[in-house]
Amino acid sequence: MHFGFTDEQAQLRDAVRRFLADRSPFGEVRHLMATKAGYDPTVWRELCQDLALAGVHVPEEYGGQGFTFRELGVVLEEMGRALYCGPYFSSTVLAATAILEAGSEDDKAALLPGLASGDRLASLALAETDGEWDVGAIGVVAENGTLSGTKSHVVDGCIADLLLVAVRQPGTAGMDGLSLYAIDASAEGVTRTPLEALDPTRKLARVNLDGAQARLVGREGHAGPALRRTLDLAAAALANEMVGGAARLLESAVEYAKERVQFGRAIGSFQAVKHRLADLTLTVELAKSAAYQAANAAADDDADLPALASLAKSAASDAYMQAAKDCIQLHGGIGFTWDNDTHLFYKRAKSSEVFLGDPAKHRERLMQHWRTPPASATSSPSRAAPTAERQPDTPKAAGVRREVRSWLETNWDPNSRLVAWRTKLAGSGWGMPTWPSAWFGHDLPQALAPVVDEEFARIGAVTAAKTGIRILAGATLLEHGSDDQKARFLRRILTGEDTWCQLFSEPGSGSDLAGATTRADFDGEHWIVNGQKVWTTSAHHADYGLLLARTDWDVPKHQGLTYFILDMRQDGVDVHQLKQMNGHASFNQVFFTDAVIPPENRVSDIGNGWQVAITTLAHERRGADGLRGQAREGGLEGSIYEEERREVATVMEPYKWYPQRAGRVDLVVERANVTGRIADPVVRQEIAKLLVMARSAEWTARRARAAQERGQPQGPEGSLGKLAASNVARQACHVHTLIAGPDAMLTGTDGALDGLIAEILVSVPAVSIAGGTDEIQRNIIAERVLGLPKEPRMDRGPFREVRRN
Ligand SMILES: Cc1cc2nc3c(=O)[nH]c(=O)nc-3n(C[C@H](O)[C@H](O)[C@H](O)COP(=O)(O)OP(=O)(O)OC[C@H]3O[C@@H](n4cnc5c(N)ncnc54)[C@H](O)[C@@H]3O)c2cc1C
Repeated sequence: MHFGFTDEQAQLRDAVRRFLADRSPFGEVRHLMATKAGYDPTVWRELCQDLALAGVHVPEEYGGQGFTFRELGVVLEEMGRALYCGPYFSSTVLAATAILEAGSEDDKAALLPGLASGDRLASLALAETDGEWDVGAIGVVAENGTLSGTKSHVVDGCIADLLLVAVRQPGTAGMDGLSLYAIDASAEGVTRTPLEALDPTRKLARVNLDGAQARLVGREGHAGPALRRTLDLAAAALANEMVGGAARLLESAVEYAKERVQFGRAIGSFQAVKHRLADLTLTVELAKSAAYQAANAAADDDADLPALASLAKSAASDAYMQAAKDCIQLHGGIGFTWDNDTHLFYKRAKSSEVFLGDPAKHRERLMQHWRTPPASATSSPSRAAPTAERQPDTPKAAGVRREVRSWLETNWDPNSRLVAWRTKLAGSGWGMPTWPSAWFGHDLPQALAPVVDEEFARIGAVTAAKTGIRILAGATLLEHGSDDQKARFLRRILTGEDTWCQLFSEPGSGSDLAGATTRADFDGEHWIVNGQKVWTTSAHHADYGLLLARTDWDVPKHQGLTYFILDMRQDGVDVHQLKQMNGHASFNQVFFTDAVIPPENRVSDIGNGWQVAITTLAHERRGADGLRGQAREGGLEGSIYEEERREVATVMEPYKWYPQRAGRVDLVVERANVTGRIADPVVRQEIAKLLVMARSAEWTARRARAAQERGQPQGPEGSLGKLAASNVARQACHVHTLIAGPDAMLTGTDGALDGLIAEILVSVPAVSIAGGTDEIQRNIIAERVLGLPKEPRMDRGPFREVRRN
C-alpha cells in the first residue's frame, strides 16, 4: 500500500491546482453552470493539450499518458476542490474506463485516442429511468446491432459525441447477457433531453434510443463483469473528487471562523465552533485516506477493489455532506445565500452522495465484499501485523530484513532467561531499532520498524519490553534526559527490569495538567516532594514515576513546573488502588509525604518541566496503541515464554483490559456471523460504518507516518489519531451491543464470550478520557492544526493567584 504521494504526483497536483485556479475560478464556475453545455471548450482544450489530463490513466498505445488511478485520483481531487465544470468525469473516467474494461484491442485502438486527446467527448449511459447504477437491472435491449429503450442520469449526455450504452440481450436477466455498445450521439434514433440537475455544475441527460444503430464494444453478452468493475473504478474516482470538495469546504469554514467576529471575538474562538471544525477535520482526513486507498486498489488491481471502492464512496459521501452542512451552518445567514459559493459545493455533495449509489448501498456492498480483516485491537501499524497488505520489500527493507533475520538465527534461543535475552537485544540495537545506535537502537527510520517486528513475530522471538508507561519514559528520557539518566534507565526499560508510572494527573488538575500543585522543594541537597497524584496507572507495581511537580508558585503556571524521575519504592510514597467502573483496579491514588528525589533525577531545567511533559503526552497520544496487547498466542515452546507470561500476569496486569477499552473491532465480524446477527440489515449497516471508520483511521495513521518519513516533523496529528480511536471504540461498543442483543444485559460467565463483551461495554468510556480527553484533543486540533484563536484565558499571572479546585 502507498501512504504518500511521490514528487511527480505532488508536481501533478500543483500543476492542476494552478491551472484550475487560473482558468476555472468560482466566477467562471457560476458562469458555466448557467450555460446549456456547462463547459468552456477552450479551457477543455488547454486541459487536454497543455496538461494532457484527458488520457491520464489511458495506456500510451491508445494515446494516453499511461499513468494509473493514483494520478487520476490526484487530478480528480483537484477538480473536486475547484468544482471544475467540464466533461472530465463523463469522458475520461466513465467512458474511457468502460472501453478499457470491456473493449477488445480493436475497440480500444479505435475509440480511446479520440477521448485521450480530448477531441471527442463520450459518456457512459448505464442507469435507466429509475437512475440506479445497477448493472443487474439493465433493461435496454440490443437486437441485431440496434438499441431501444431509455437511459437516464447520463452525465454530460447532451454534449457527448459518443455514448457507451450498457444493454442486455432479450431473454436474459441479472449479470448475464450484458453488452456494451458505442453509439454516435447524433445517430438516427437517438434523442437527448437535458434533465434539470440539482447540481448545475454536473449536467445530466435522458437518452431515448429507438432502433438506433450501434457498434458492439467487446464481446456480445459478456460485458457484465467489466461494467461492474467500471462502476467500482468510477466509485473510487468519485470518492477522490469528493474529498477534494470536502477539504475545500473545511478550509473555507476555518477561514471564515478566523475572520468573523461576534461578541467581541472571532467565532473560531468559541468552543462549539472549534470542536465542530476539529471533528470535521478528522472526518475529512479519514475520508481522504479511504479515497486514496481506493485509488491505490484500482491502480494495483487489488482483489479487494469492490470493498475498498465502496468503503471510500460511503466515507467520502458522508464527509462531503458533513462538510457542506457544517460550512453553511458556520457561515450563518450568508451561508444560505446564492452569492456565497458554499451552496455550489452543497449541491455537488448532495448530488454526488447518490451518484453511483448512496452511502447505505455502498456500505452493504462493502459487507458483501469484505475480505481484509480489520486490524486487531492488539495490533497497530507500529507492531508486527502480518496482514494481506504486506508489500514486497524495498531494497532497503530487504537489507534490514536480511540483517535482523541473520542476527535472530544466530542469537534467538527460546530457552534463554528473559532478562538475559532482552539485555542481548538491547546491546544489539534490534530491541528498539528506531532508537539511536548510541542508545540501544539501530538508527532505523520508523518506516522500517515493521520489518523488524515481522521478523520477530515470524519466529515468535520475544521482543524488548515495549509496553506500558516505561516506553513513554524511554522516549522522554531519550529526548530530554542527561547521559547519566539514559545510561542508568534506558537499558533497564528495554529489559523490563523496571516498571514505570506517570505521575501527572491530580485531584485538582487533569486536563489542565499545568495546574499541578504537588510541590517539589530543594532543601540544598535533595528535592522534597509533597502532594497527591491520582488515576496513576500501574503505580502499585512501579519502580519509578515520571513526576510533574511545582517548583515555583510565583510565575505563570506553565513556567513553575519541573520534571523529575521519582523512586516509587521509598517511605514517602503511599499508593492506594482505586476500583474502576469495569471492576479492575489498574489506577491509583499516590500520596507524597516528604518523598525524596536526588538532584541527578531532575530531567528538565528548573521551571521547564512543561516542555518535557509535552513530549511524554505527545508520545502517549501517538502510541496509545503501543500500550495495548501484550498477549502472545499460545503454542510456543521454551522457558522464556513462561517468564514472559508471568510478567504479563503481574506487572503488565493493569493493562489486560486495554484491548477491550479500544472496542475489539477484531471480534465484530466473527461475532456477527456466529450469532446470526449478520443477517440483520440494520446491524450490517452499523458494522460497515465501524469498518469504514476503523480502516480509515488505520490508513490515516500510516499517512501521518509516511509524511514523517518524508521529513515532515511529527505534529499534533496524534490528537487526530486519538480522537479517531475514541470514535472507533464507541462505534464498536454500539455494534457489540447490537450483536449481543439481550445478552448485553449479562456479564461474567453468563455474558457473551464469558463476559468479554460485557467488559468491552464497560471499558470503552475510558478511552476518551485517559491520555487526554476528547475535548482536549479537539482543542489541540482546532488551535494547533487549524490555527483557530485560543480561548480567552483566566489563568494568567502568578500561579499562586490563579483560581483552583
Ligand atoms: C483509565 C485511565 C487511566 C489513566 N491513567 C493515568 C496515568 O497513568 N497517569 C496520569 O497522570 N493520569 C492518568 N489518567 C488521568 C487522565 O489523564 C485524566 O482523567 C484526564 O486527563 C481528564 O482529567 P480529569 O479527570 O481531571 O477531568 P477534567 O479535566 O476535570 O475534565 C472533566 C470534563 O471537562 C472537560 N474539559 C476540561 N477542560 C476542558 C477544556 N479546556 N475544554 C473543554 N472541555 C474541557 C473534559 O473533557 C471532561 O469532559 C487516567 C485516566 C483513566 C480514565
